[in-house]
Amino acid sequence: MQDQILTQLGSVLVHGSLTDEAVLTETEAHPVLPILPDANVIKIGGQSLIDRGREAVFPLLDELVANLAHHKMIIGTGAGTRARHAYSVGLDLGMPTGVLSILGTFVSMQNARMLHYLLAKHGIPFIEPIQFAQLPFYLEERRAVIFFGMPPYIYWQPNPAVGRIPPNRTDTGVYLVSEVFGARSMIYVKDEDGLYTADPKKDPDAKFIPRITVEELEALDLDDVVVERSVLEIMKNAQHRRSIQVINGLVPGNLTRALNGEPVGTIITA
Ligand code: ADP
Ligand code: MG
Repeated sequence: MQDQILTQLGSVLVHGSLTDEAVLTETEAHPVLPILPDANVIKIGGQSLIDRGREAVFPLLDELVANLAHHKMIIGTGAGTRARHAYSVGLDLGMPTGVLSILGTFVSMQNARMLHYLLAKHGIPFIEPIQFAQLPFYLEERRAVIFFGMPPYIYWQPNPAVGRIPPNRTDTGVYLVSEVFGARSMIYVKDEDGLYTADPKKDPDAKFIPRITVEELEALDLDDVVVERSVLEIMKNAQHRRSIQVINGLVPGNLTRALNGEPVGTIITA
């Protein structure tokens, strides 16, 4: 290729090695485009919320609907207890991580379908990854969409360092959506007030942490955390979504407060 028709960056990339760090640094010259900067990505927990049934789900959906006039929302679903059961059967039968990832995808899909039918009368569509190109239209016209939170890694899901459960699950899938579209927020709706020093369901002395950085959280070396650890790992290289918020969706008003930018729950920053 003639060098004259290449930009300086074009020349570096065409002639350089894509494993050379100096070449890769050149690709950071321009900022990344925030594609949907006014969309909020919301994850509705599987085990923590949807599995609790109508008592937890109906008030939360009412709150979502009440916010349609004020906020655009990309709503992803967790998988939860049924996925854990599917993983246990799959593991018993010797299934590899990539196949467990497929099983988890279908459970997350079941949850998205159910929430979709509950919200159908408000004109909110269920979309699959192949329809993400239509997101701008749906958000402009209907203000919200529902999708399944599991990232579509399926067979390509990498093995975890320990055990066989897919390490990139629904927390990770929704986070990656908020990052790639340069969304306004990433809100995790679960059943605890946010991050604690230990799982509050197991340790009554666990202390609430309103705000923390990924580095500080790593230094604490907690036995368990409130979001998938891969989210925290991926956040370190975030271009856009450098904070996430974890809220208690069982408390009325919390989602509205988070959508309005209030520091409810825990905020974790990169
Ligand atoms: P989801 O339903 O979104 O998949 P999970 O059930 O996987 O959510 O994760 C949320 C749960 O994580 C909480 O219900 C809580 O019991 C547990 N948890 C574990 N460690 C912590 C911690 N350090 N702080 C808060 N919650 C924690
Ligand atoms: Mg989970």
